[in-house]
This record gives sequence, structure tokens and C-alpha cells, in this order.
Amino acid sequence: MKPIVNDSCIGCGTCESICPEVFKMEEKDDRIIAVVKEADYALHKDKVDESIVACPVQAISWEE
Ligand code: SF4
Repeated sequence: MKPIVNDSCIGCGTCESICPEVFKMEEKDDRIIAVVKEADYALHKDKVDESIVACPVQAISWEE
């Protein structure tokens, strides 16, 4: 499984501060959004789950 960030991301940076191994802020179309890096997602599952809960706009989920 892999985490995904949808279009509702407002670029707050919370996910990157919780789990920088997986999330990275990037400028795209003149706005800052979170992108998912290549990583061992299973290894960082707990911090990804924490980011899912902490995201203020529910933009993060696990891809099926
Ligand atoms: S926590 Fe949510 S809104 Fe904030 S940067 Fe991450 S995905 Fe975007």
C-alpha cells in the first residue's frame, strides 16, 4: 500500500513535519502541496497514519 495526497491539500506542511521520510512539500502550479516520496511505506506506517489523522483537510489516504 502507498499513501496518496489528493487535491484538497492546502500545503500546511504538517505531514512533512510528522513523516519527512514519506511526505515532501513541493511547488506545483504556483502553490505548495505535499507529494509522496519513494519510501518504504510499511516501515513508516505509524507516522503515515498519524499524518492522515493530523491533516486538517483529510487529504491523505492509503491507496487500495
Ligand atoms: S497535512 Fe494535509 S493539507 Fe497539510 S501538507 Fe499534508 S496533505 Fe497537505
